[in-house]
Amino acid sequence: MAGPRTVVVGGGIAGAAVAWRLARAGAPVLLVERETAPGAHATGRNAAILRTAIADAPTATLARRGAAFLAAPPEGFAPVPLLRRTGVVLAAPPDAAERVLDCARGREDLRPLADDALRRLWPSLHGGIGAAVLAPEEGVLDGSALLSGFLAGARAAGARIATATAALALETALGRVTGVRLRERSGAERVVPADAVVLAGGAWAAEPAAAVGLGLPLTPRRRHLFLLEPTPAPPPDAPVLWLLGDAETYVRPESGGLLLSPCDERAVAPDACEREAAEAWDLAAARLGRWFPALASAPVRSHWAGGRTFAPDGRFVLGPDPRVEGLHWAAALGGHGMTCAAAVGELVADQVLGRARPEAEPFAPARLVTDASATAGAASA
Ligand SMILES: Cc1cc2nc3c(=O)[nH]c(=O)nc-3n(C[C@H](O)[C@H](O)[C@H](O)COP(=O)(O)OP(=O)(O)OC[C@H]3O[C@@H](n4cnc5c(N)ncnc54)[C@H](O)[C@@H]3O)c2cc1C
Repeated sequence: MAGPRTVVVGGGIAGAAVAWRLARAGAPVLLVERETAPGAHATGRNAAILRTAIADAPTATLARRGAAFLAAPPEGFAPVPLLRRTGVVLAAPPDAAERVLDCARGREDLRPLADDALRRLWPSLHGGIGAAVLAPEEGVLDGSALLSGFLAGARAAGARIATATAALALETALGRVTGVRLRERSGAERVVPADAVVLAGGAWAAEPAAAVGLGLPLTPRRRHLFLLEPTPAPPPDAPVLWLLGDAETYVRPESGGLLLSPCDERAVAPDACEREAAEAWDLAAARLGRWFPALASAPVRSHWAGGRTFAPDGRFVLGPDPRVEGLHWAAALGGHGMTCAAAVGELVADQVLGRARPEAEPFAPARLVTDASATAGAASA
C-alpha cells in the first residue's frame, strides 16, 4: 500500500471523490457514512446543474476541471453518460447585467445570447433582460451515477466503505492525527487508527474536529427546489436558465415538468437544512410571478430542501489544516459541489499524499484559522 492510512468522514460527493482518488493511488482508505446509505443529504437533493461560469476565478477553474471529468470520465467509470448537454443560460435584468459579465469574463467558449434567441428558448420568460450568455457544452449532470462511480471505483481499488457509522471525534497526540472515534452500526464505539483524516461531512463537516477544539466556521444555508407541472410544459431540450440579480431564480426542464429554485439561502443549523419552510413557498410564488407569470398557477408535483454549506468568504475549504498534521478538509462546497467534485477529490487526495498543489492555496483551511482556534487546537492536540 502507498500512502497514509486515511479515514474519510462523509459519504456524499466530496468524500466519495476523495476516497476514489486516494484508493486508486494505493492508499488504504476507510470511508465512514453516518446514514444507512451514501448520498442522502446535499448530494441527493440538488438541482444537478453543471455550471462553470462563476464569478470567483479559482472556483471557476475547479468547476471547469470537474466539467471535463463529467464530459469524459475514465473508461468504465459509469454505465451511463454523466452529462446531458442541454446548455446553460446565465441572464440578468438590466440593473444586474454586470453579474452576467462577471461570470463570463475571459470565457471565449460562452456565446452572447440575443433577446429574441433567449425568448425562443424560453417562450414563457417575462421581463427585460440586460445581458445573457449561453454555455452550450454545459447542462444537467447525473449525480447518482457520479456518486456510484466514485464509490464503486473506490471499493474496486480496495477502499472500505462503512455505512451507519458516525465519526464522533478526532483523536490527536503531539500535534498529529492518530485516529477517529467512531460509533458503529451496532452502537459500539471504537477508535480506528489513522495517519490522515479527511473531513467531508457537508453541513456537519466541522463536528468531529470541533469535538477536540479544532472546528471551523462553516454555515449551512437552506435552499428549496420545486417541481412544477405547467401547461404547456417547457420543451424537454430547453437549456437551464439561471436568472441572476435581486430576484435570483433558476429553472430547467425535469421529468416533463419544470424544476425551479427561488435561490433562497437562509442560514440554519445542520439538522434543519432539509426542514421545509413556508417562507420559501411564498418566495417561489413571487419569483414565478416575476419571471414566468403565465405559469403562476402551475400545480406543484414535488418539493424539497437541502443544505449548501459555506465558509465565511464563500470559498471551498480544501486541504490540510495547519493546526494538526494529518487533518484535511473537503468541505464548504456551497452550490457547486456536484460540478466540482472530481477536481475537489483530486486536489484534496493529492495533498493527503503529500503532493504539492499550489493552486489549492485560495481554498486553504489556514485562512479560517483564528488565533483562538489555533490555540485551542494546540492545547488538545
Ligand atoms: C437545493 C440545492 C441545489 C444544488 N444545486 C447544485 C447544482 O445544481 N450543481 C452543483 O454543482 N451543486 C449543487 N448543489 C450543491 C451540492 O449539492 C453540494 O455542494 C454537494 O452535494 C456537497 O457534497 P458534500 O459531500 O460536501 O455534502 P453531503 O452530500 O451533505 O455529504 C456529507 C455526508 O457526510 C455524512 N456525515 C456528516 N457528518 C458525519 C459524521 N460525523 N460521520 C459520518 N458521516 C457523516 C452525511 O451523512 C452526508 O452523507 C446544490 C445543493 C442544494 C442543497
